Amino acid sequence: MTDISIRIVGQAGRITLQRPHALNAMTYEMCLAIEDALDGWATDDTVKVVVIDAEGDRAFCSGGDIAELYKTGTKGDYAYGQKFWADEYRLNHKIFHYPKPVVSFLQGFTMGGGVGIGCHGSHRVVGDSSQIAMPECGIGLVPDVGGSLMLALAPGRMGEYLGTTAARMNAGDAIFAGFADHYVIEAHWPALIATLEATGDTSCIAASATQPAPGPLQTALPDIDRHFHGASLSDILTTLRAEDSDFARDTLKRMGRNSPLSMACAIETLHRLRGPSLTLEKALDLEYCFTARAMEHGDFLEGIRAAIIDKDRTPKWKYADQDVPATAVSKMLMPLGEMALKLGGSGMKIGFIGLGNMGAPMAANLAKAGHEVTGFDVAGTTAEGVTNADTAADAAAGKDIVITMLPNGDILRAVAGDVIPAMKSGATLIDCSTVDVESARAVAEQADAAGLGCVDAPVSGGIGGASGGTLTFMAGGSTAAFEAAKPLFDIMGQKAVHCGDAGAGQAAKICNNMILGATMIATCEAFALADKLGLDRQKMFDVVSTSSGYSWTMNAYCPAPGVGPQSPADNEYTPGFAAELMLKDLGLSQQAAEAVDADTPMGARALELYRQFVEDEGGRGKDFSAMLPRFATRGRT
Ligand code: NAD
Repeated sequence: MTDISIRIVGQAGRITLQRPHALNAMTYEMCLAIEDALDGWATDDTVKVVVIDAEGDRAFCSGGDIAELYKTGTKGDYAYGQKFWADEYRLNHKIFHYPKPVVSFLQGFTMGGGVGIGCHGSHRVVGDSSQIAMPECGIGLVPDVGGSLMLALAPGRMGEYLGTTAARMNAGDAIFAGFADHYVIEAHWPALIATLEATGDTSCIAASATQPAPGPLQTALPDIDRHFHGASLSDILTTLRAEDSDFARDTLKRMGRNSPLSMACAIETLHRLRGPSLTLEKALDLEYCFTARAMEHGDFLEGIRAAIIDKDRTPKWKYADQDVPATAVSKMLMPLGEMALKLGGSGMKIGFIGLGNMGAPMAANLAKAGHEVTGFDVAGTTAEGVTNADTAADAAAGKDIVITMLPNGDILRAVAGDVIPAMKSGATLIDCSTVDVESARAVAEQADAAGLGCVDAPVSGGIGGASGGTLTFMAGGSTAAFEAAKPLFDIMGQKAVHCGDAGAGQAAKICNNMILGATMIATCEAFALADKLGLDRQKMFDVVSTSSGYSWTMNAYCPAPGVGPQSPADNEYTPGFAAELMLKDLGLSQQAAEAVDADTPMGARALELYRQFVEDEGGRGKDFSAMLPRFATRGRT
């Protein structure tokens, strides 16, 4: 293919876009050729780094080639476009998660599809001619190719501004907004590329980079934030129209060219994505909800007609800008069900053993993110998007990663005995259960002897965190094993701390849960005392949750039914986190405290109370917050 050059030079996999006459616009074939090359180089030890550049001064890549999409779409063939976008997004996802550095050199225009190729690598280099933009709303799409991830992460309301105005970022603004990393004078690029090819080492990039001047958009951020914080397109337009300023006039002019439905959906997309559990997978998934419907139900075909077919530049959009119904936005962004974006081709093969309260939603999140997940649970439970195997060994065989989420150390040791021999060499075992430090270390040794990586990675955050993908992982193991597990932690959680060598994750977890058990008891006994003092539970919550007695057990997992956010107390104390699991964790902390001669009187008392509750007072099978009815029905003796 003459549109693109793919080769290995020295230690670098080299990709050069060579359609300068068409501003290097990306065709479907170019997209597939890049994916093929990346697949081959991922396991080719001679390739240390991938370097992507483009011919010509005017553009790195001005976008996707949309003419073919128009041709098929106007004939009522929407499947071609859906496949095109799904394949393109899979490539964007692959670049983002590529196991080797990907360096891109972004001269001139980098827009739309060009952002998908150029702005997801590990090192994104810009220079004086760089102009980066997400102009999709102008043709009736929304910012896509994973661009909504950067927009949602951009400072303040810069994302809403860039997505709805299609404003161009210079080098300084692109770095400020998170679309680029390094500013290097363009005359130095050829020498830098030659060094990358010769050495495969990316440290030369930072060494050649200098600080660009702040861009005009960074300077305009206070204006942007003031106008773009509204809940909807209509809110934003209202404040802009109420202001007599150059900023407001210029912004309204830019937005006046774009599809109102697209702008309204772009704003809603960013509002939904922004938050601690944001991942590229979630961004692509939501973008695809729109793009898969864009031809049939959006303004896309009309947008292309006006822009590149009739070139009259007067598109007849479906809605006026102040008049986009909320239902139209919801319909464009509704989940696609069976048709949802599948990034599976680039995902990992994962075995998941233990699909209980925690394991099932964690496995489902991995499947949703495009990984191929095979599960097993002795109880026969399943998880959404997960294929069940007949045995733990079957679920583990041939997988890149195997995750266990089991009740205790004895069960973990037994399961590890089955799955480790079935795992392929070089794969990684991640145990997310809470178990004793000795079991964690024993499993790590066994994995190491079998040529596997191993991470003990217990979690905090409960079932809410497991389903919302906001868990905290505390990990023990080698740096290499932690790095292999990190992309999955990013999907299942919002934070992963590498605590040290094998067993360090469990040590952190045991300490955390000793605090949790004691705090739950303190919260429950305080509610029971408040009851007897005639204090309303809601008032108690209102005070404590905003006073110095606040805690996770009060504020996020309140043990009083009907008070605070939804918790197991509102579901008759169905676990959640079962009292017997808390008993187990408190036992583990006391076992550890004895081993190292640590004085832990509160932990010891909490253990005693949970033992009594579980073994003698009917607490087994109830959530650990069911301590509240226990205290509420007792007196001092
Ligand atoms: P759970 O009892 O709901 O799930 C454990 C699952 O493991 C069950 O479905 C069980 O059938 C399965 N299992 C048992 N033996 C098995 C075997 N040999 N092979 C395959 N599957 C087997 O417990 P959970 O609440 O999901 O907790 C799992 C782990 O996570 C525990 O170690 C717990 O301490 C820890 N944890 C739980 C929470 C929580 O809020 N529930 C929070 C943090 C950590």
